[in-house]
Amino acid sequence: MDIRHPREGMVIRWCERQVGLMQLQHLRNATVILGLGAHRVLVDPMLADVGAMPGFKLLGGGRRRNPLVPLPAAATEALAATTAAIVTHEHPDHVDAAGRRFLRERGLPVWTNGVDGPSLRKKGLDVHELRDGALGMRIEVVRSRHARGALGWLLGPVCGYYLAHDGEPSIYLIGDSILTDSVLEAVDRLQPDVILAPAGAANMGIGGDILFSVDDLVRLTRLARGQVVFNHLEALDHCPTTRTGLLARLEAEGLGDRVHVPADGEVLTFERPRAAAVVTPRPGTPERPGLQKWVSARFAGA
Ligand SMILES: [Zn+2]
Repeated sequence: MDIRHPREGMVIRWCERQVGLMQLQHLRNATVILGLGAHRVLVDPMLADVGAMPGFKLLGGGRRRNPLVPLPAAATEALAATTAAIVTHEHPDHVDAAGRRFLRERGLPVWTNGVDGPSLRKKGLDVHELRDGALGMRIEVVRSRHARGALGWLLGPVCGYYLAHDGEPSIYLIGDSILTDSVLEAVDRLQPDVILAPAGAANMGIGGDILFSVDDLVRLTRLARGQVVFNHLEALDHCPTTRTGLLARLEAEGLGDRVHVPADGEVLTFERPRAAAVVTPRPGTPERPGLQKWVSARFAGA
């Protein structure tokens, strides 16, 4: 499959990835494949057919069955080449029954946090804790928060991951989050070459926002000096932001030259900037499952 660098018009083949380049293929919602070192890492596999899951919008109208759109045609070939997986958190739009079946059948090692690891292991996955040194990378786990108040507690502790492979661009997978001081501090200190941020402004119609607002994304992008890729868009009933609307706002803010809003199936390629500093990640404090995990593990399906 040919891929095109979004800014420089450089075309290379996925199977011939050059040393020092990082590839990111966006499949759908939060499901992406990252070419990092020798690995092709499947992140957050939601692989269900259209309409296989109930709607997530509980109040306020607009409830539809999820996912709203199919996986792109390129997904079959891309998924077949994956060598490992990262699950940012165990919610059904990040790892669903079809995703778990794929991971089990392929026997892929699954890297995740201490909150979701035990539950995913019980569901038959080969689980490892994603911490510094995993997959040959410098890694920092950045705590975040999925929502404010009681809903934030119910949705459980969440975190993002800063991943840096020697000689390649670093990437911060923020994961599902609202704008917290910890996320802002991590962006400011780590200054990742690439940030992957969920941009659907999800809201279930009860309990407040469960993802960054568009204003939050503008603030985040202003703080970052690297490239910013937005996903978690136009695939679920509770994510109202559109790609076109988001891009128009970012361009109006003068940020259009550093942002990417890939179509489903699109491959982006990033080079490590020559002047990029080597950042030493801080050790995180591992979190363990709380009472709410019992609820969210069942919500995510058996
Ligand atoms: Zn999500």
